[in-house]
Parts: sequence; structure tokens; C-alpha cells
Amino acid sequence: MNCMILEYEDEILVVDCGLMFSDLDNFGVEFVIPDFTWLRERKDKVSGYLITHGHEDHIGALPFALKAGIRAPVYASPFASMLVRERLKEHGLESDTEIRTFKMGDKLDFRHFSATPVSVNHSIVDAFALFIDTPQGRVIHTGDFKIDPTPYYGSRLDESLFQKAGEEGVLLLMSDSTNVERHEHSLSESRIYQTFENLFAAAEGLTVIAMFASNVARVGQVLELAHRMGKKVAIAGRSMDQNLRHAQELGYCQHAPSVLIPVEDIDRHSRRDVIVLSGGSQAEQGSSLQRISLGEHRLISLDEGDTVIMSSRYIPGNEKAIGRMINNLFKQGAEVLYEAVHEIHTSGHATQPELRQMLEWTRPRYFLPIHGEYRHLVHHAKLARETGMERERVVVAQNGDILEATTDYFGIVDKIEEPRVLVEGRQGGDISRLVLKDRRILGERGIVFALMVRNQETRRVIAGPEIVSKGFAHESVAPHLLDEARRICRQLIVDYEHELRQGRVETDLQETIRVELRRFFERNVGHKPTVLPMILDL
Ligand SMILES: [Zn+2]
Repeated sequence: MNCMILEYEDEILVVDCGLMFSDLDNFGVEFVIPDFTWLRERKDKVSGYLITHGHEDHIGALPFALKAGIRAPVYASPFASMLVRERLKEHGLESDTEIRTFKMGDKLDFRHFSATPVSVNHSIVDAFALFIDTPQGRVIHTGDFKIDPTPYYGSRLDESLFQKAGEEGVLLLMSDSTNVERHEHSLSESRIYQTFENLFAAAEGLTVIAMFASNVARVGQVLELAHRMGKKVAIAGRSMDQNLRHAQELGYCQHAPSVLIPVEDIDRHSRRDVIVLSGGSQAEQGSSLQRISLGEHRLISLDEGDTVIMSSRYIPGNEKAIGRMINNLFKQGAEVLYEAVHEIHTSGHATQPELRQMLEWTRPRYFLPIHGEYRHLVHHAKLARETGMERERVVVAQNGDILEATTDYFGIVDKIEEPRVLVEGRQGGDISRLVLKDRRILGERGIVFALMVRNQETRRVIAGPEIVSKGFAHESVAPHLLDEARRICRQLIVDYEHELRQGRVETDLQETIRVELRRFFERNVGHKPTVLPMILDL
């Protein structure tokens, strides 16, 4: 999750506030957000949320931060503002949250900080780096970025601004590490145009393109091509629809009115002349593409000759679900084009040569690689040292680390213990690590109940034990094992009642049964299920 906190004396700025979709969804964890406890304890210091761009992993946790009582204006670009407003609406927060829309060249002034948004190229329009002036010096946060010499919308990132910053002095650079392992300069967004044109020209049937709804430039290219080639475009999916509407409000996607048709009208046109723009590239449950792949979409079905183009990256953790969906799309008879073999997708993140360029332009005193997995941060740190930075000026930090930067020191000074919260359900109740562990154990080993009734006065067991199990062992061995477990329980009860008659200190029957049964099951099935003895005193 991307959420960076800058603090100076009595003031805090929050840069981005994202959520991460979870690969733990087997255990009911839908997504992961930052733990806002630390920030909530300092909420009066927060002057604002600064949003670099509108991707979910940069804005998705805003509603949770605001609900946690950390109220402050949200500063965002025009397109990001619209997406933030949608998120807030879903949580009923839009009326009491102030969204201040900024543009290139604006200067945002706070008590100790001032921030200047600087345009960068990325897989969403209106993406910005932030130049943040602090009393200790200038901090540059690149956000997600790449250097695209020919972006479809917007202009190439203005390197002179970064160079100028480098000449004036940069205290700290924080730069996107996602694609540091790639050595070729990233593919320009405009390169997609040629590939799509060839594919559209060769289409024998329906063309379905799955992509991120927020990739306005790619949608724009499809619409322009359709316009030029006399084709029609249908939009499948609420998010796709919503993003296109916002894009049009900002003046993008001007070909939309001339080529868009409702999904209901697909059959009125020759199939080869229709392109469907669909959400669901990550195989999300219930998404348009997922339903199409299962033959369950009300209005769109696939046939021999149809083509599905997967024009987006696979978010780590989704690979299996996407793989299954691609298999299903093939089963529907369609040809499926995926991965980079066809240049049908280009990443929005800078690769090694671009990252090196960023380091050389800005020549920071200190460097902190951000965004990406730990190994990416390590590689990016190594790259910084290759550009001549001394070892002690480059720090690799982990989620929750607290760093201090002054003119003569940069390093980790403290740590927030558990910086993440696991969330179940869209509106979010959080799940603790302990609950998650329980779910995992229950899922892997099942559960056995031992039920009995005891007379409250005599302390004697008057009914049971009954042994019931769920998800524990194969049906062919379970009955035998449970019989044996019942016998063990009976013996434990006999021993217990013997103790009672002797007037000895009463042992904890419940705990004894639990321990003994777990031991028994481990001996016989090789693992310990969860054992829950329940004694009802009547
Ligand atoms: Zn992004």
C-alpha cells in the first residue's frame, strides 16, 4: 500500500493513501490497508492528503483514513479528484471532505511545507510527482512514473524541471522501483496504437479488449482507431463506463460520441466491426470479462473467430485466477492474446535506464527507493550507488519504518510494529492476525467438537460425549477415529469422576480432553485439528 507520511514539528502531510488487493482472499481478506493508529494519534497535525494519481493503490484507503477521524483536505489532480470523489461517495463521505484540485504549476502552501506538483507519464492521465519543500531541504516524491517520449495524452515528462531541481539541491529523492529489474526503456503508450490497428484490421469476429478502466489513454486510442476504421465500440462494466464518463468531462476521448454503441446493440452490427472494452482484466469475481469467460454474460457471448486482448499487467497474486479465466475464454472458442508477445500492453513504470536518468537529473543528497517489492527496493538502491551515491546516503526501508532526514543525517530511527490492517468486505471490518491464523488452521486441518452435559451440583457427566467433526479427515477413516475419540473421552470422564469421589482438587476436564484428543489425532492422522470440547453445566 502506498502511504507516505512527512512530518515536521507540528505538521504532517500524507502522500497517497492506497489499498492493496489481497492474495489472502481464501481466508476472507479482501484487501489490505495501512494501519492508521499512529496517524490518528497525531491527527491534529495533518494538513492534507496529497495524491500523486488516481490508481486504487494510491487512493483506495482514503475513506478508511477519513473514517478513522483523520480529517484534512485532499489535494489531487483533475482526474484523480473525480476518482477520489467516487470512492468517498461509496462511503458517504463526499459532503464533509474537501477536495482541492491542483494542476501543473500550482504551488500548495502549508505551515512548514510547500508542494509543487510536476507532471509525469504513467498508465493513467494526470499523474504527478511532488516537489515538497521542507525547512530541511527539498524532497522529491516521483509517485508512479515512466518517461514516455510519445505519450498518447499529455506531454512528455519535463526533464528540465528535474534537472533544475538537481542544480538547486535535492535533500531526498523517493522514486518508483516497480520495474527496476527491466533493462529496456519502457514501451511508449503510443506504440499500442499500431498493434491495435493491425489486430482490428485482421479481426474476423468480435474483439474484446480487457484493460484497466482508468487507462484513459488506451481507451482513447481504441476510440480513435474505431473512428478511423469505421468500427463501433461497446463498453462493458460499470467502472469502465464511469472512468470514460470522467475522461470525457475532462476533454479526453473525444471520439466517443461517434463510435459508442450500447452493449444491447452489438448484434445489430457485423461482429468484426465491434470492439468491446471490458473491465475485469484481473479476473475479479463478477466482472464483465469473468462472466464472459464462463458464458454467463447476459449480452456478450464469444464464438469461433472472436478475439480477446488482455491489455494489462497481472497484479501479483492474481496470476492463477487470470490463468483460469484465460483457459475459460479459450473454451468459449475465442483466440486470446496475452502478455507482452504482441505488444498489446505497456507498463506505466520506469525501467532501469529511466530510473538511472531520474537519479542523475535530481542528484539527491539522500535516496529512498519506494513502490515495489523488497527486492525491487534493494536493486534500486544498488542502482543509486552505481550512479556514485555513497552507501550511507541510500536507505532501504520497510513498511512501518520511520526515517529521519536532516542536512547531515538520513536513516531509520524507529518503527511502527504492524503497519497493515487486513480488511474483509468492501466497507471493511478488519481481521486480526490471530483470526487469520485461526482461519488458516481451520481450513487446513478441520475442527472436532466434543460435546457433553454435566450436572452442575454433582459435577457428573450425564449426557455425551458426542463427537462431531468438520473438514477433518477422509469419510472412510473419520467414523472409526471419532469412535475411538469418544472412547478416550469416556475414559477421561471416568478418571475425572473418580477424582471427584476421592475429593481431590478438580482437574479442568475441558482442557484435559482438548489436549488428549489432539495428541490422539496427531498420532493417527499426522496433524492436530482444532479440538473444541464443550461442556454444558445444567
Ligand atoms: Zn499507478
